[in-house]
Amino acid sequence: SVRVRFAPSPTGPLHIGGVRTALYNFLLARKLGGTFILRIEDTDQARFVPGAEAYILESLAWLGISPDEGIGVGGPFEPYRQSERKTMYKAYADELIQSGKAYYAFDTSEELDAMRATFESQGSAFQYNAVTRVKLRNSLALSKEEVDQLLANDTPYVIRLKVPAKGEIRFQDIIRDWVHVHTSSIDDKVLMKSDGMPTYHLANVVDDHIMQITHVIRGEEWLPSAPLHILLYQAFGWNPPHFAHLPLLLKPEGNGKLSKRDADLGGFPVFPLEWKDPQTGAISKGFKQEGYLPEATLNFLAFLGWNPGTEQELFSLEDLIEAFSLERINKAGAKFDVKKAQWFNEQYLKQHAAKELAATYLPSIEMEKGEAYVHLFLDRITFPQQLEQMVQEFSEFPENYDEAVLTSKWNAETKQALELIVAALPHCHDWHAEEIKHSIQQCLDQAGIKMGKVMQLFRVAMSGKGAGPDLMISLELWGKDQVLARLNKALE
Ligand code: GLU
Repeated sequence: SVRVRFAPSPTGPLHIGGVRTALYNFLLARKLGGTFILRIEDTDQARFVPGAEAYILESLAWLGISPDEGIGVGGPFEPYRQSERKTMYKAYADELIQSGKAYYAFDTSEELDAMRATFESQGSAFQYNAVTRVKLRNSLALSKEEVDQLLANDTPYVIRLKVPAKGEIRFQDIIRDWVHVHTSSIDDKVLMKSDGMPTYHLANVVDDHIMQITHVIRGEEWLPSAPLHILLYQAFGWNPPHFAHLPLLLKPEGNGKLSKRDADLGGFPVFPLEWKDPQTGAISKGFKQEGYLPEATLNFLAFLGWNPGTEQELFSLEDLIEAFSLERINKAGAKFDVKKAQWFNEQYLKQHAAKELAATYLPSIEMEKGEAYVHLFLDRITFPQQLEQMVQEFSEFPENYDEAVLTSKWNAETKQALELIVAALPHCHDWHAEEIKHSIQQCLDQAGIKMGKVMQLFRVAMSGKGAGPDLMISLELWGKDQVLARLNKALE
């Protein structure tokens, strides 16, 4: 059965692209009755950021992307945090040394820097590979005695993969189809570092094998590493999993990769939750705190690189599971369309119970009234926290009046109409939208004035603005006294 994993490194806040990777893995597992595993790849101690792992867990929990196995859940291959599996990787690296697929390298960083500088001065880039390794300090270039001596002296070393000088690596990516790479373009990657920690490549491949991962679904930025991973599987004599490299997320205009800088400039978030940098204290915006609903965020993310092949756009998590397939993921980069994200939010906001929104976002307003406000404003907002601002503005007496409407609509007849309304409304005893409308209609009918001619001016008299939510319901919510006060002020 299908086993997929999301394997983030806790090096900072999880980018929204990472959340999409998690989502696609999760959807595939759910769709095929497989297992979705969460593994933390924290072997790079230099890039470890405190709080990042908790942030990843919270982000996934907020969206309902729940692992079946792994961090926070447990499972047959515990532990699922690579730093806790540390000792195990060494045995695998040793296995490759024994079989001649890997070797010890004792070069110091000074020696490597010098080598790099020599190459650069000749206008080429240094690669630790079949050509150069013979001139360096490693167990392929030195005699057995020298190597034994260095090891006996506890000389620091790394373990490198012995990449064959000649050969082609091919694999069929589910999204990108056949990928061919010549081994000469790959260098002898470090598998074990001198601090005894495995590198990402070794730990990733070993764990994917041990944890019986069937499909590796990850971002396109890992595509260049895939041939090396295939080589590693071959070196161990293991069957590689299937690979699917997801398309890049592009800037809203489609010109290049989406970056945090674009987000800062564009005022939109690229992280699921707000993140406070533990070093600088700088805050990065989060979808959640900006007012995006989890179901809208999920729906938006699902469409960044995948489509159902139909016109349908609104998909609940259940619907997504039903419709998802790797075959419908695009190769081309996906534009991060902020407008679309907002559109999704508006759609899901309308599906929320007014009661619940009122209770959460208008807590200081009496429930029945709060609910009425929600109904009044719901199709005019993108984020629920805009409700409070809307109510605030709604309650304020207008400071000034829409000039354009005054110029075009204010005349003897409409002025008379407003005066008739001021005179009629005090007699409206049942202050509800329908009755108010009826009173207004009646007094205008008697004077032979068409309601349509007066309403926009009336709205401006009430709110100062030429457009706004349903006027009759607004009148009901303002209350009779307030309406008359506003009208009288406008007529002064
Ligand atoms: N730890 C890698 C990351 O942070 C995982 C890449 C992979 O899925 O192989 O993205």
